[in-house]
Amino acid sequence: MKIELWGVRGSLPTPLTNNEYQQRLRAIIKNAIESDLPYSSIDEIIAKLPPSLSTVYGGNTTCVTVTSQKGNLVILDAGTGLRPLGDQLIQGDAGSGKLSANFFFTHTHWDHIQGLPFFKPLYIPGNHFIFNSPIKNLHDRLDYQQKFNFFPREFDDTDSIKEFNQLKASQEYSIDDSLTVDFIPLRHPGGSFAYRFREGNRTFIFSTDVEFRGNAVESFTTDHNDFFYNADLLILDSQYTLDEAFAKFDWGHTSYSMAVNCGIAWGIKKLVLTHHEPSYSDEKLASIYNEACDHMSASSKAAEIDVPDLFLATEGMVFDL
Ligand SMILES: [Zn+2]
Ligand SMILES: [Zn+2]
Repeated sequence: MKIELWGVRGSLPTPLTNNEYQQRLRAIIKNAIESDLPYSSIDEIIAKLPPSLSTVYGGNTTCVTVTSQKGNLVILDAGTGLRPLGDQLIQGDAGSGKLSANFFFTHTHWDHIQGLPFFKPLYIPGNHFIFNSPIKNLHDRLDYQQKFNFFPREFDDTDSIKEFNQLKASQEYSIDDSLTVDFIPLRHPGGSFAYRFREGNRTFIFSTDVEFRGNAVESFTTDHNDFFYNADLLILDSQYTLDEAFAKFDWGHTSYSMAVNCGIAWGIKKLVLTHHEPSYSDEKLASIYNEACDHMSASSKAAEIDVPDLFLATEGMVFDL
């Protein structure tokens, strides 16, 4: 399966500001002048920049795709990352009403549904979408978001074919012959769900908007070990620093250090930190990533165990499992 990240920001879309852009330009130009390389070495200069200058982690809210070996498309959450995904899809089958895809929703906080009204394939007749979630009234919630007071076109007036499928606990669902999915509930205000996709002997888990805290590693390891253990790829909420996690107790998100602890305890192979706090600049995110790496290597030395490869979720990131 192929996993692609379209939106990685938590809570609110976060465009780069002019001030941030100009600060970055200044730092890049300074870097280039000091490198003393000729104009023809622009690519080399870019390659040598630190990630905080060479990378935009991305301002779109949560949206991730899973594509099975057979080419079937799953869309996880409909944050604003869904808009660029839709723009790409209409270049292909979706443009002529031949797209069929499954949505899976973790929950319906705004940052996980606000991209849906701007998803162009939704408006094209013939496209077929199945909206999956354990949430009883998912249709009503999505419909409410597009009521006339909030948006010019109502959800049910869009032209694509829409089906709703309420998922039941402890059941595994097939996307096609090779890709299956199941889920567990998570601690988050109003509830949230983690989805686990399996294809062949590969496992990918998407677990955003969850508050793992305090002795969570022990208790969750006991309670959820079967679900999380040994996944090839885990995308995990890590919105806060540890200090903020204490200050925002019960807000429903996890600190990056706790996310690293979970990744180690569960024997995860690749761990991706996501749902970045909207007030964090790329510079701050890069420094959090460095601190998370330090925490990971300190923990591995103490425990003498293998640890996950660690990534900071970035728009456009792709994983092939
Ligand atoms: Zn969220
Ligand atoms: Zn949420």
